[in-house]
Amino acid sequence: MVCMTATPAATSTARRVLLAAPRGYCAGVDRAVIAVEKALEQYGAPVFVRKEIVHNKYVVQTLEKKGAIFVDETEEVPEGSIVIFSAHGVAPVVHEEAAERRLATIDATCPLVTKVHKEAVRFAKDDYDILLIGHEGHEEVIGTSGEAPDHITLVDGPEDVQNVQVRDESKVVWLSQTTLSVDETMETVDALKDRFPQLISPPSDDICYATQNRQIAVKQMGAQADLVIVVGSRNSSNSVRLVEVALGAGARDAHLVDFADEIDESWLAGVTTVGVTSGASVPEILVQGVLEWLAERGYGDVEVVTAAEESITFSLPKELRRDLRAEAERLNAGAEDSAPGK
Ligand code: SF4
Repeated sequence: MVCMTATPAATSTARRVLLAAPRGYCAGVDRAVIAVEKALEQYGAPVFVRKEIVHNKYVVQTLEKKGAIFVDETEEVPEGSIVIFSAHGVAPVVHEEAAERRLATIDATCPLVTKVHKEAVRFAKDDYDILLIGHEGHEEVIGTSGEAPDHITLVDGPEDVQNVQVRDESKVVWLSQTTLSVDETMETVDALKDRFPQLISPPSDDICYATQNRQIAVKQMGAQADLVIVVGSRNSSNSVRLVEVALGAGARDAHLVDFADEIDESWLAGVTTVGVTSGASVPEILVQGVLEWLAERGYGDVEVVTAAEESITFSLPKELRRDLRAEAERLNAGAEDSAPGK
């Protein structure tokens, strides 16, 4: 049995679990997953989704069972079909390709990613060189870069700073991927400022609230843990960062697992305190699976380590809201027409 308390963690020699809060679903992921579910209800299967809607194996498999078809490129979607763009965002060229194929699009890009796209467009319009801190090949970076390909240079970590070339050192700004390590990003920014003292910072943090809160929580919890288990998929940038942050905070060992059955019993050797958290694309059911697995091995006491409260929510993509509203009005009108006396 899992016994959960919200008392602050205390030094103890008894086996215990420290459970980070917040963890798991962020507002952008929640919105994107609900968008696919609602689209399936509204339009019927299949509904096509370009790329993984969020980077989590379980979420993708569950939506596939309900009738979502995940594709890599827009050209794989039959003409005239419905396609949903993932939470990571897409470049403008993807919207153009979809229009050419007469696809009905639902854009589930997280509003906090859209904010970075808009910053990129604005600085490019003012002819700045934009140094985008992020991981090469990540979908979000590809999408943001596509907004202003002639103005954006990718900077993939502090060691990449020496390679950066700009046209005019007085017109340079940095932006970042939303799911990076806060500490490593600041290292990169400091190195960039050493090279380009006039470097401008974005008007507000690009690393999103959810990424930051999950990292703060894992730092607090990781500092007291012998072992940290992060639930998340390998292609989930923010989940991978949580493993790094846990190790940086002092955890002796840290691992990323998609499911409880990927935990290796040998990781528990000599371990008193296990820290548990999950990435922003991970449903809570997977964390519960890990807690049950640990409880069966004597780690049944769970203390919640809370670093922040979250209450942010985002409304569904506008195309979907429009169609859901029209459907509700149609049903209402039908109910009135068939009401007694009509
Ligand atoms: S991690 Fe942040 S940017 Fe990414 S979907 Fe969640 S809220 Fe949006």
